[in-house]
Amino acid sequence: MTYFFIKRCILCGLPCSGMDGDTYSVPVCSSCTAELDEWKNLYRNQCPTCGTFLLWQRQDCPRCHESEGESPLETIRCVGPFRGIGRRIVLAYKKSGYRRLCGLCADLLEPSLAQSSHDCLIVPVPSQQKNVRKRGFDHMACICRELAARTNCGYASLLIHLQEEQKGLTRQQRLDSHGYALKHLLFFRRTAISRIPWKTMLLVDDVRTSGGTLHHCAGLLSNVFQMPIHGLVLCDEP
Ligand SMILES: [Zn+2]
Ligand SMILES: [Zn+2]
Repeated sequence: MTYFFIKRCILCGLPCSGMDGDTYSVPVCSSCTAELDEWKNLYRNQCPTCGTFLLWQRQDCPRCHESEGESPLETIRCVGPFRGIGRRIVLAYKKSGYRRLCGLCADLLEPSLAQSSHDCLIVPVPSQQKNVRKRGFDHMACICRELAARTNCGYASLLIHLQEEQKGLTRQQRLDSHGYALKHLLFFRRTAISRIPWKTMLLVDDVRTSGGTLHHCAGLLSNVFQMPIHGLVLCDEP
């Protein structure tokens, strides 16, 4: 007796036939693959500084035009928009805790790491602990560990998300920190930071809305680490 295992698309549940579903490390049907392929066209023209989708290559970037002052981030790259399939992937992974999507998110982010070599340290933007507990895993840490394993980059969880109930912090301190803080700050100060073998840092998040989170996290890291910091996000919400 022969059993046939039908691969089902991880995103829509439809069966994949033949070679369908082999583009990514998890099964994705041909129509969902086509939707993801559109991202490559859409984000071909992106601002080299902030990663915003531009209509044509030499267009003035509206986001860079609006932002004032120096950013602690050298560049930000975005893979796709936070709508349609991008929105479905992020919500299913982050809100519904569908952990198998970690591999797909890593597949989508990985080509943007090709330029960075093994001397890059990948750092996730941290989630709130209560959401990690609810979901059962830290969704960005999983993606970053996967990316580091595939690319020989380093991985370090350097930041924490401060809780409302965080002890020892006044309300003003929480507001000043924008909800994020460096872990083990004293440890980093005492360790000879110059001996760290990585030359660049890559801060990775799922969605960029205003860019405030990336900006504040990169600011915290740049206070301690003397290396260029780049940002990478899966979905951009312009
Ligand atoms: Zn599908
Ligand atoms: Zn820009």
